[in-house]
Amino acid sequence: MEENREKNIQNKVIVVTGGSRGIGVAIVKLLANEGYHVILNYNQSKEAAENVKQELKQQGKEIDIFKADVSKREEVKGLIQFVIEKYKKIDVLINNAGIAQEKLFTQITDNDWNTMIQTNLNSVFYCTQEAVPYMIANQEGTIINISSIWGVTGGSCEVHYSVAKAGIDGMTKALAKELGPTHIRVNSIAPGAIDTDMNKNVTQEEWEELKQEIPLESIGKASDIAKCVKWLIEDEYTTGQVISVNGGWYI
Ligand code: NAP
Repeated sequence: MEENREKNIQNKVIVVTGGSRGIGVAIVKLLANEGYHVILNYNQSKEAAENVKQELKQQGKEIDIFKADVSKREEVKGLIQFVIEKYKKIDVLINNAGIAQEKLFTQITDNDWNTMIQTNLNSVFYCTQEAVPYMIANQEGTIINISSIWGVTGGSCEVHYSVAKAGIDGMTKALAKELGPTHIRVNSIAPGAIDTDMNKNVTQEEWEELKQEIPLESIGKASDIAKCVKWLIEDEYTTGQVISVNGGWYI
């Protein structure tokens, strides 16, 4: 049994978008340490991506790193082609790359809106659409979208972000139905407040206030999301779900 599990893991090819920082790095490290073949996608943080590769190498784990701006269809095509040429398949796609922006609704420009939708929502469409034919060919696969608590509840001063994340959750549910018969599972993870660069402007005082609102009385770690990702990869009967990993902040 244990031998089969190991064989299964060693064969699995996993793409993590936005794997150079924050939640993405935690996902990459956890999965690489489990023995999966991981392809870390990055866009601007080349050095950070190389450091993750180097660190894992020292632990005896090999990963691939690949630069692609996932908000651009052509670059996504390049990423997926790289994976197919090297591994002939994609078992798991983790759509994690994302940006945030806080602005009053009345001050969101067309450019802000378009950049947000392009980076946080259209990227998920591009990556998923480019990867899914290979999953269908194999009659199996797993897609995990990292959405957000704000897509579920709505975030004040983050309307465009909330729209993009709610869109991801809609895509998750619809696609899970469409792809279920081909044994491809599609799920979202909706993180609450996680301590990463994305929240670098949050002050210590604000973190303390936030903790009072969270039943588990702590801020989430990137590794909390990575553990849920690992569970979803290994699971076989969960699809079309938006799984909240938020310390009970929203129940
Ligand atoms: P982060 O620390 O700011 O890291 C963002 C990652 O996304 C980086 O690796 C970045 O890569 C990548 N990225 C951004 N734009 C990209 C693009 N166009 N193409 C490819 N990669 C791109 O953010 P994080 O907190 O880890 O967030 C990861 C995901 O979790 C996001 O989707 C975010 O919305 C979601 N989330 C986060 C929180 C939170 O509290 N932190 C809560 C809910 C949801 P480069 O630096 O290489 O460009």
